[in-house]
Amino acid sequence: MSTARTAVRIEGRGPVAMALALFLARQGFGPGSLLTDPIPDELPDWLASRAIALSLGSWQLLSRVAALPPAAPILRVEASLRGRAGRTRMQAADLHAPALGYVLRYGSLHRALADALAARQAGATPGEIAAVAALAVVADGDPGTASKLLDFEQTALLAELVAERDGHCTAFERFTDEGPLALLPLPQPRRYALVWCARPAESARRAELGAPGFEAGLREAFGSALGALRLDSNRVLAPLQRKVRRPGDEPGRIAIGNAAQALHPVAGQGLNLGLRDAFELAALLGELRASGRPLENAANAFARARRADRALTVAITDTLAQAFTWPAIARLESLALGALDLAAPARNRVASSLMFGLRSG
Ligand SMILES: Cc1cc2nc3c(=O)[nH]c(=O)nc-3n(C[C@H](O)[C@H](O)[C@H](O)COP(=O)(O)OP(=O)(O)OC[C@H]3O[C@@H](n4cnc5c(N)ncnc54)[C@H](O)[C@@H]3O)c2cc1C
Repeated sequence: MSTARTAVRIEGRGPVAMALALFLARQGFGPGSLLTDPIPDELPDWLASRAIALSLGSWQLLSRVAALPPAAPILRVEASLRGRAGRTRMQAADLHAPALGYVLRYGSLHRALADALAARQAGATPGEIAAVAALAVVADGDPGTASKLLDFEQTALLAELVAERDGHCTAFERFTDEGPLALLPLPQPRRYALVWCARPAESARRAELGAPGFEAGLREAFGSALGALRLDSNRVLAPLQRKVRRPGDEPGRIAIGNAAQALHPVAGQGLNLGLRDAFELAALLGELRASGRPLENAANAFARARRADRALTVAITDTLAQAFTWPAIARLESLALGALDLAAPARNRVASSLMFGLRSG
């Protein structure tokens, strides 16, 4: 068999592209059979400062291939409906897990993965043959213009806050009539990342308010669980759309991560889903390679293997992003959250699927 038939080219320079390269290296793909794009040293601030909640499952997968940076553990998630009864609390202790997940900044994760990749590639000269690889994996974060689009008509306002009181490793999710509002604990004490989703005009208005007016509005929307909340960063606006790449007819090309599906951030699942894509693809390619079968055969098998996890994660995320903004069903949702709080097995199943998704290893 020629080397080209066993070579993979990865297009992209984000965390999913780098994780795939690291997972493939563990499957025995050396520099001569793996071609990656150059990884940038610097990221734009708006991206580097983005808070990312990694599920416990993602944390475990990445710990196998990289030394991960300091992160804030999430020991509890408190979900509630603003202004209505009904709330639920998921706790790591109920699941006998060390944490439900960990929060870090995109920039520190990017650096940790880039360092791990550089260490793998140190001193190696990628074989020329890799340039004519059998398989190209698209992991450039862009699902393309022909993707299926759902416009939530929401913009996320992102900022960092310092809270008066310690939240004891709790992540908060408030479902408001305008969209979800989340506060994620950051690695520094009493510091939180805010993701506040609302109609675009409202988010734009809030981004322009003076700090006292902004903090007062936030307190009204979030409540007093953490005492006073002080704005301590720039405010960044991110438009929210869900995009799913349409199945292509290009043989020998597979899209993963945001290049396959870009989700609303409400459930913190976009990167987690992309990392599961990368892990499963590496396992499949490792099997094909070990048994001497051509890598071009991977596309259909990969699509089949990932269908259920992708469809479930997209559906849960779409529903959470919109459901609570429909006044007619808000009361039902309030009952559902209340019921979930009473039904520990159901609550733990939801927590477990957000922690691990559907993956094989
Ligand atoms: C507000 C917000 C909060 C989120 N929170 C979470 C969360 O808590 N948990 C979670 O799992 N997911 C979260 N996500 C989703 C997560 O960020 C993406 O799913 C993940 O980054 C996809 O990784 P990727 O490698 O496929 O694409 P990425 O490479 O991350 O690509 C994403 C975009 O970033 C840009 N980009 C990448 N590198 C560069 C660069 N060097 N220079 C300029 N631009 C660049 C590109 O425009 C690209 O379209 C969030 C997304 C948003 C918008």
